[in-house]
Amino acid sequence: MLSEFGLIRQYFERAKPQRAVLGIGDDCALLAPTPGMLTAISSDMLVEGRHFFAGEDPRRLGHKSLAVNLSDLAAMGARPVAFTLALALPEANREWLEGFSAGLFELADLHGCELIGGDTTKGPLNICVTVFGELEPGRALRRDAARAGDDIWISGTLGDARLALAGYRGEYALDAAQQQAAGRRMHLPTPRVQLGMALAQQGIAHAAIDISDGLVGDLGHILERSGMGATLDVDALPAGPVLATRDMAMRRAFTAAGGDDYELCFTAPASARDAVLAAGLATDTAVTRVGRIEAEAGLRLVDAQGSPLDLALASFDHFAS
Ligand code: ADP
Ligand code: MG
Repeated sequence: MLSEFGLIRQYFERAKPQRAVLGIGDDCALLAPTPGMLTAISSDMLVEGRHFFAGEDPRRLGHKSLAVNLSDLAAMGARPVAFTLALALPEANREWLEGFSAGLFELADLHGCELIGGDTTKGPLNICVTVFGELEPGRALRRDAARAGDDIWISGTLGDARLALAGYRGEYALDAAQQQAAGRRMHLPTPRVQLGMALAQQGIAHAAIDISDGLVGDLGHILERSGMGATLDVDALPAGPVLATRDMAMRRAFTAAGGDDYELCFTAPASARDAVLAAGLATDTAVTRVGRIEAEAGLRLVDAQGSPLDLALASFDHFAS
């Protein structure tokens, strides 16, 4: 039987820490901040049955647990440095731990983000990651920084994660290949870390948020914090490759309000259009202009002709459903 400490040592403790002064094994980890930089901190919890299905593939779960946290750093424009992992596990299953830690470290290594500590306990499967990043003072992509006249931009594509969920729930028929392709977007989100850093470091973008609960709801947070309104061209929203083959009503609904995409929604002045496109190219990330920030309060959804659209869209809210 694997002890708590054996488990930590075998699956989570690696060779000498690179970023931390002291990593796993003591009462606290020790980090030396880069002089003059701010520390960006964020936590996200994944609960079985709420954020993922029971029996979910552990490797994908390891990836997603860190990915959703790195996505928050990306939305702030911060560089990932380190993270902690608090884990409640029903049992110490070696196969599960091997898969989970492999998925976790694969993504961590890709971003040079180091596991520096955590907590492990027995209980219903629950995964909580806290990430630490850094960024220059005054460079953060804050939700309250959108200005009237800013363009609204989206990274990557939207809606395939929501389409996958519809397929799993049997709300909508997908063939096996489509379910798998859309499912990848749901299970293996790509945090837009490089794009977020470029937009922040070069002072290109004003406000940003990562889209976890659906664009309409998440953009609403920017509008509320910034005291602004917006017009969103729903037909300009870039649909994921599987969703792109569906009818217009579903494309509109799932691009505008589907959750779990982990793309960035950001605002930038019209004078920065070329710089945004260059940042997208430099970081190999598609960027699409989808609307405009306006002083008039409220979010106005329009179609390709600019006519008002009335989509009864609700963003995903855990306490409302
Ligand atoms: P304490 O009793 O002080 O909370 P623990 O016994 O919980 O310490 O943990 C021992 C060490 O292992 C600590 O350095 C802690 O940060 C680390 N640790 C525990 N669980 C994890 C985990 N899931 N991933 C990474 N490090 C962990
Ligand atoms: Mg502890």
